[in-house]
Amino acid sequence: MLIDSHCHLQHFDAEERVAVLDRARARGVTGFLIPAIRLSEAAELLRFCEGEPGVWCALGVHPHEAASWREGDEDRLRALLAHPRAVAVGECGLDFYYDHSPREVQERVLELQLRLAVELHLPAVIHNRDSNDAMVAMLLRPELERLVCDLHSFAGGVEMARALAPRGHYFGFSGMITFPRADNVREVLPGIPPDRLLVETDTPYLAPVPYRGRRNEPAFVVEVAERLARELAVPLEELAQSTRANFQRLFTRAA
Ligand SMILES: [Zn+2]
Repeated sequence: MLIDSHCHLQHFDAEERVAVLDRARARGVTGFLIPAIRLSEAAELLRFCEGEPGVWCALGVHPHEAASWREGDEDRLRALLAHPRAVAVGECGLDFYYDHSPREVQERVLELQLRLAVELHLPAVIHNRDSNDAMVAMLLRPELERLVCDLHSFAGGVEMARALAPRGHYFGFSGMITFPRADNVREVLPGIPPDRLLVETDTPYLAPVPYRGRRNEPAFVVEVAERLARELAVPLEELAQSTRANFQRLFTRAA
């Protein structure tokens, strides 16, 4: 039994969502975390989670949307996060590759959300692309010492893993781990404690081998887990069991 710790099911229409959940469950995937991109979709995401066993969401504002942050959004987010199906703050972070929002705005909106996560004793789901230095500096701030994050689809490299693993953060592995040229994703594995590993699809992006180029879906987290188990030289059943336990330890509301 596997949990897909990062799947954007909000990109599917209602009928497709039911179909992709059925296909995933048929392969033993029984838990799903949907990270929000913007606050305007939060109410609909919560409604969807209420009607589906094993489906939870993270609520927050993605760095691409950071420029949309308005006065009062912090209070709105705090209120939304009171819902029991909201298990984390996110998806939040920094993306200096696309720079869809100005960098200083991304950093400010990230900081506000991380402070809220600390206040509410919730974990945060972190997006990071081409922003390793700024992200490490942010996560090492003393006022965020109690914060625990899911560094989703981690591709930050050995040095970043070494800087953040001692702080208790979790590392999500996606279909990238199956890509032939993604040695940078695989080479961090020896430095990550086994009790800090998560598996995810990042649906609808990053479909694993042999589905590359297709739209990704949670059923394919099986291929991600198989490859991760092979890299770590552990049986798939053991990897499934440990990543599930890790998920429930991090996202305590989903336990
Ligand atoms: Zn995402």
